[in-house]
Amino acid sequence: MNVVRCRSFVAGDWAGDDRATLLPVTSPIDESVIAELEEADAAMVDRAVAAARDSVARGEWRGRSVAERQKVLRRAADLILASTEEIAALECANTGIPIRQVRERHLPRAARNFSFFAEVIGQQSGQLFEQEAPYLTMVRHEPVGVAACIAPWNAPIALATMELAAALAFGNSVVLKPSELTPLEFAPLMDILAEAGVPDGVVNLVNGRGAVTGAALVAHPDVDVVAFIGGTETGREIGAAAGRGLKPYLAELGGKSANIITARADLDRALDAALLGIFSNNGQQCLAGSRILVEESIADAFIARFVERAKALKVGDPRDPETELGPLISEAQYRRMLAFAEGAETLCGGGRAPGFAKGWFASPTVAIAADSSAPLCQEEIFGPFATFLRFSTLDEAIAIANDSRFGLVGYLWSDSWREIAAVTQRLETGTIWVNSPVARDLRAPFGGWKQSGVGRTGAEASRRHFTREKVVTLPLADFPIPALGSLRSEPS
Ligand code: NAD
Repeated sequence: MNVVRCRSFVAGDWAGDDRATLLPVTSPIDESVIAELEEADAAMVDRAVAAARDSVARGEWRGRSVAERQKVLRRAADLILASTEEIAALECANTGIPIRQVRERHLPRAARNFSFFAEVIGQQSGQLFEQEAPYLTMVRHEPVGVAACIAPWNAPIALATMELAAALAFGNSVVLKPSELTPLEFAPLMDILAEAGVPDGVVNLVNGRGAVTGAALVAHPDVDVVAFIGGTETGREIGAAAGRGLKPYLAELGGKSANIITARADLDRALDAALLGIFSNNGQQCLAGSRILVEESIADAFIARFVERAKALKVGDPRDPETELGPLISEAQYRRMLAFAEGAETLCGGGRAPGFAKGWFASPTVAIAADSSAPLCQEEIFGPFATFLRFSTLDEAIAIANDSRFGLVGYLWSDSWREIAAVTQRLETGTIWVNSPVARDLRAPFGGWKQSGVGRTGAEASRRHFTREKVVTLPLADFPIPALGSLRSEPS
């Protein structure tokens, strides 16, 4: 692959900056430099925000009818699908995520984000109150203005477009900052949005590190609303910066999700789902089922089958459609994951995957934790690393599952309605999947409890974030208005 330049996209144009700091973008497959990123500094961020602000003032997008906005969003979805091969190749080379998963999950999801929010805006309504006669009071939902959307590297286009499509659909202008590790596929995305008919300045792109580009964006006084997907510590920092500017803030953060498997489960299905839950996307998923809690009576057999399958995973070049597990995103993530394996009771993995001289390939790793307080159970490892815990009673399983500062999602495998009722009521997470791997209905509010997030995305939840309410009150009939100053009597 040729080394390409990743530039900012401002007011409908690629904005080159010869004085910009250049950051190498490397492929985790072989550590080669595949692109150079021109880091957007505060001045470039200012240009991008100004372009977005101008477009808000012109009203060219927010002033369009819903039908016109829907047409553009649907066209964007179609163009993304039509460019699947081109974008998937970029994402695969840049992230190391197996090409099949990128093609079959990430790209369709990115397209769906646009078509979904096109549907949503066609169904929205305001509110109307008539109880306080003679007044009619209406509640309208208006775009907020300029939205800053900040995205992570683990599913770059699928996640960035969840924020971007929502902000756009509800009439906002956007400045998007993807992860500095995975900027490649955002170039074709900008071209697609322009071709779909998004007016210049309505979507802008800035590339760069969080502390430089991201921080300048969030703190910019002309940014009205912030949406973030990424790690919990970053989320805390961005939340503080957004708070200083009194900007509404939505954050989807990290997780350490429990997957509870009881003796009453369909164990074949539970096994397939447990493997998928921790090893898909190279284990780099916020909603990974990374703590697998198994009932004592079935634990030995279940764990043995899990380990056998984990060892049989096809680790390889993610560009090969047969590959099930690719490399981790970076050396830092790779070393971090292996450090968790040191001193742990590992049943397989824990080191470099054999056969790779270059690239950040780790072996699928399975460990058993003595108890829930172990770092393995408390920290988000974000790699192909499954940790098992055993439990004797359902109460114990629920207590272990809730023993976490995170609360993103939870999984339960059981065919007992009593167990399903207990777990779904008592698990402290924003989402619970019963007898199912990840199955996200975009209509429903998604987000974390505890330190896994602030706010929600979804049909209504995203509208709440990306619009602001305006109350308009008007009378339906004349009514007496106290005539101040009319009571003064003439001096006698
Ligand atoms: P990260 O927090 O390191 O970075 C995310 C983004 O924030 C990047 O674009 C980064 O440049 C930017 N950033 C960093 N510091 C910033 C600052 N001070 N100001 C503004 N922007 C800043 O996360 P990551 O490593 O890219 O992604 C992995 C994390 O994301 C994991 O913790 C994962 O669980 C989480 N995640 C959560 C969800 C969810 O929906 N809950 C989805 C995917 C990933």
